[in-house]
Amino acid sequence: MNIRDLSILEEEHICPDCKSKMLACEAPPVHVGDGLGWGSEVIFICLNDDCPPFKAGWQKVDVNYGHKATFRNMQLPGSKEQNVMMVASPIAFTGSIIDPEAMRLQNERYTKEVAAVAALENCLEVGDIGPVMTLILDEAATPAGRKKAVEMLILFNDLSCIDPIRNHTFKKPEFERATNMIISQLLKHNFKQECPFCAELIKAQATKCLHCKENL
Ligand SMILES: [Zn+2]
Ligand SMILES: [Zn+2]
Repeated sequence: MNIRDLSILEEEHICPDCKSKMLACEAPPVHVGDGLGWGSEVIFICLNDDCPPFKAGWQKVDVNYGHKATFRNMQLPGSKEQNVMMVASPIAFTGSIIDPEAMRLQNERYTKEVAAVAALENCLEVGDIGPVMTLILDEAATPAGRKKAVEMLILFNDLSCIDPIRNHTFKKPEFERATNMIISQLLKHNFKQECPFCAELIKAQATKCLHCKENL
């Protein structure tokens, strides 16, 4: 889920009946009952099981409609207008509670990805390997952008990309393979090798590592 306006999550909604904090939840795609959407991606719901309308609702619904359900107090973002929604079980919506911090991080990552993809256009011209590395190391980025970044990596001829890539765990083996291949090419172009003992970069023709003094 991507919330367009994260400031919604800063809103404080207090349940008018039980005074507990209403929690931001993902709105269901349709307004159960009349088939209309809530007009919001986020709704605030009182999930307190001791809330009076929730406790009293079971019996009310049973008497009036003859089925098992009750009510939760609900408010829409930017509004203190009290709404109720029918829920069929105490756990309805508990799975759709939004964690504002997780949402902020997700959004931050996404914003960075979008900026990096846009910057691929001219990052080579300006000699900025940053966007390329951002995409290569972002496991959540869309594969198309990452693939393009991997293809561009060799053009920078920048050995400083090796460490972050070596320290990264790739979830997709094709990216690991592709970056390994590029690192091999980069080392070759620059007459370097990685010491098999300490991983420092050394001359391709070295027989003894300058850093760990191991014989190669
Ligand atoms: Zn309440
Ligand atoms: Zn070494």
